[in-house]
Amino acid sequence: MKIIDLRSDTVTLPTQTMKDALYHAELGDDVFGEDPSTNRLQEIASELMGKEASLLVPSGTMGNLICTLTHCARGEEVILGNMSHMFLYEAGGMSALGGIQPHIIPNQLDGTMSLEDIEAAIRGDNIHFPRTRLICLENTHNRCNGSPLTPEYIDSVAALARRYGLLVHLDGARIFNAAVALRVNIKELTRGVDSLIFCLSKGLSAPVGSMVCGSREFIAEALRIRKVLGGGMRQSGVIAAAGIIALEQMVDRLAEDHANARRLAEGIARIPGLSIDLAGVKTNIIYFDLVSDQPTNDEFVIRLGQKGIKLLPTGSSRFRMVTHHGISTEDIDATLVALTEVMEET
Ligand SMILES: *Cc1c(COP(=O)(O)O)cnc(C)c1O
Repeated sequence: MKIIDLRSDTVTLPTQTMKDALYHAELGDDVFGEDPSTNRLQEIASELMGKEASLLVPSGTMGNLICTLTHCARGEEVILGNMSHMFLYEAGGMSALGGIQPHIIPNQLDGTMSLEDIEAAIRGDNIHFPRTRLICLENTHNRCNGSPLTPEYIDSVAALARRYGLLVHLDGARIFNAAVALRVNIKELTRGVDSLIFCLSKGLSAPVGSMVCGSREFIAEALRIRKVLGGGMRQSGVIAAAGIIALEQMVDRLAEDHANARRLAEGIARIPGLSIDLAGVKTNIIYFDLVSDQPTNDEFVIRLGQKGIKLLPTGSSRFRMVTHHGISTEDIDATLVALTEVMEET
């Protein structure tokens, strides 16, 4: 039976071109700065993002942590959304390892935080208060329907930050999905921020790795923090070689994932007992609700599993599906047939 795995775009496997590239990669010791493939990937990433420098790191989580630890001192505060990955899913790293306090404010359904809420969360100069240092944005916004943040919104947050002498970090795990969905040059999404991360290992299909990007000075400090965290890698060119292919060959095709997500969402909207907000579907992530009593949430997941469909339960009766390289339009149609059968059988 064919397995159609819609849990996440992290399940993507490296392409044959990536395997060939990492097999033949030119290697050296990256802790000495001597891995040619890693150096090349870092140049490509900096250039693409319009930043002076960048750094290969093992994961997006480590990348975000490196950025917060580089920007903030102990006791300082970071403003971020209550639905953000950095707040929900990074094991409290900034507090645990940096003594940094998250100050959460509401995410809107489109992944933004209102400028009013951000401004109200900025601390005044008072001996009682922690010092606000950093504002974090997420693009696309994982928990908020995979929504892309627009250049205009990011610029407005950056302008607010500058007025208060604050820094902006962008968790751009899926920033290429945002650029493709909005049809903008990626630099428009990064020009206002002081640092960003993006993942090579999600929709871009590389096996491992994320990039941290920022000024030369910032990356020099981030390099030290990466070493502290045990993220200094040696012949990391085997990772970087696949990452280069990810950036060169796998970006434009994300539009297919978005089209498949839309097809899937529109199909789900027609199935009795399932409910989805079609207007919210903009990239490769969809959330929908099981609104009938039968099947139960657990039965729903089990029966789909029996038909080869994997999805992610994300709370009470809500489920997530993510389209990616390796999920074809035929797979989407097969998924819709399976969903219809599961709902009709009960
Ligand atoms: C996946 C993800 C991360 C973390 O990346 P890992 O490589 O899984 O550690 C960070 N932010 C967002 C929005 C993500 O979706």
